[in-house]
Amino acid sequence: MSYSYDPQNIFAKILRGEIPNSTVAESDHALAFKDINPGAVHHVLVIPKGAYVNFDHFSGAASDAEILDFYRLAGKITQELGISPDAGRGYRVIGNAGPDGVQDVPHFHLHILGGQHMGRMLPNKTA
Ligand code: 5GP
Repeated sequence: MSYSYDPQNIFAKILRGEIPNSTVAESDHALAFKDINPGAVHHVLVIPKGAYVNFDHFSGAASDAEILDFYRLAGKITQELGISPDAGRGYRVIGNAGPDGVQDVPHFHLHILGGQHMGRMLPNKTA
């Protein structure tokens, strides 16, 4: 499988420091920052520093160290935001990919959303 990565995408520019961001946390291989257009009280994006287009690219091509570091950082964010189920709250993690997933920025990222009741995941799913 070959993936084409666009180095001019907005998150690549954030990683290069060409445009500012509100950083929440950073690790060797990942960066977490606030979404510019939040969809919930808390809306944080977690991205790997490596050039990966989407979830399947990252999970297939990234090194064990990158994957471990990325998920450890993402998990830590929920604690830092105080939205862990441990604190009686909860959150939603979303990863959009490709046209059907309605991915706007072609650099792999997870959305962490919380601080409020998130409703059902899909509008047409009631069960
Ligand atoms: P996607 O649709 O690709 O899953 O989500 C892309 C997200 O990136 C959107 O929620 C959008 O608000 C956010 N976003 C787009 N441009 C910027 C930016 O320049 N800075 C930040 N912090 N977020 C951005």
